[in-house]
Amino acid sequence: STRPNADAIIRPDFKFEDLGIGGLDKEFTAIFRRAFASRIFPPGVIEKMGMTHVKGMLLYGPPGTGKTLIARQIGKMLNAREPKIVNGPEILSKYVGSSEENIRNLFKDAEAEYKKKGDSSALHIIIFDELDSVFKQRGSRGDGTGVADNVVNQLLAKMDGVDQLNNILVIGMTNRKDLIDSALLRPGRFEVQVEIHLPDEEGRLQILKIKTKKMVENNVLGKDVDLQKLAELTKNFSGAEIEGLIKSAGSFALNKHIKVGTLGQLNGDFSNIIIDMQCFLNALE
Ligand code: ATP
Repeated sequence: STRPNADAIIRPDFKFEDLGIGGLDKEFTAIFRRAFASRIFPPGVIEKMGMTHVKGMLLYGPPGTGKTLIARQIGKMLNAREPKIVNGPEILSKYVGSSEENIRNLFKDAEAEYKKKGDSSALHIIIFDELDSVFKQRGSRGDGTGVADNVVNQLLAKMDGVDQLNNILVIGMTNRKDLIDSALLRPGRFEVQVEIHLPDEEGRLQILKIKTKKMVENNVLGKDVDLQKLAELTKNFSGAEIEGLIKSAGSFALNKHIKVGTLGQLNGDFSNIIIDMQCFLNALE
């Protein structure tokens, strides 16, 4: 067979810095080594060891820490098809009656391509958000309709069945790993589990740099803005909250140019709005 080798599976121009992920290099490396490394060896190597590729991975941790971002960016780093993203509650509510069919459809393109191209098919990534909403521990699950059970069974059937399909990786995400049925975490299913933490100070600094890059390029970030100081002041912030802080600082800068007591009249010279340190401090307040 012609399983993709390193050249085929990792884009040769790949650089971690280009992914726009702040502070998660250790996690990204762990994900790569544990979930993808087997895919870069030449055909036969892992078979000889009696191994199979990882086809399910769970990313867990607090909200807004970049789980979705990582899952998407993995697809960019690898020579993968545009990931399909599904949301747990959506599968259960929006498509009542056709939930199982929806699960089947998720795998359809990958299966068709595999039939045609075998191991040289590109990797298909399926991202399953809010996995816990569907895959709660047995007994605690259920809305009385059995819909959740059917969806679980269908997904398990698909994952258990992708043994011959080397071109699928399902990435599950959750804020509550403790709620997830342990049957899902065993080998062959979501067998690799990586925790995505809140960023530390260095991580927060990286995220601040990434998210203010455009402002710097456009000369709208005040020269007095001390990102290192802001990294210190944002202890326990998630990446999403840092993004929110920057947006809020931007609003403070805009609001300085809206006449007090009006909703639409501008004042001052707003052709050159600067987001300065005070805007960030106001936003932090
Ligand atoms: P949830 O569990 O709530 O779904 P999540 O962990 O999947 O959250 P994302 O959706 O990936 O979080 O991130 C939310 C926002 O915060 C995105 O706009 C993302 O760009 C930004 N963000 C979060 N963490 C990081 C990070 N480490 N580096 C860069 N951006 C980040």
